[in-house]
Amino acid sequence: MRHDTESCILADCSLCPRNCHVDRTAGKTGYCGMDQKVKIARAALHMWEEPCISGTRGSGAVFFTGCNLRCCFCQNREIAIGDSGLEITEERLAEIFLELQEKDAANINLVTGTHYIPQIITALDCAKKHGLNIPVVYNCGGYENTETLKL
Ligand code: SF4
Repeated sequence: MRHDTESCILADCSLCPRNCHVDRTAGKTGYCGMDQKVKIARAALHMWEEPCISGTRGSGAVFFTGCNLRCCFCQNREIAIGDSGLEITEERLAEIFLELQEKDAANINLVTGTHYIPQIITALDCAKKHGLNIPVVYNCGGYENTETLKL
């Protein structure tokens, strides 16, 4: 399912301002610690975002493993440093988005997904073809490249 554009971006990664320029398609990792395989630590209805995001039903939060910030005060350290989570395919990520919608999530909440943007776009495209129609929240650390945000 991997798109040519996606592989091209990941082969010389500058998705975030770290601009590591590593080939993640060859298993290399940059500051975020993640190669091209998507790894997630948790996907579930989440009631603990701001009220306008969690609403009354919960936000459909997907916590991505790895991080381009690694703050010393991080409350999700095990996730941020890559120790916690399971590798999944983009097809499975699309299914998870749809399952969260079926559970009546108010939205899909991408938690720290910056380093997986190309894969997330592929999964969202797939999920939308299969009926995903709830809003998508980009819940990032704020350390972003404008060109990546435009994607
Ligand atoms: S996403 Fe990861 S590998 Fe790519 S530039 Fe940012 S920290 Fe480096």
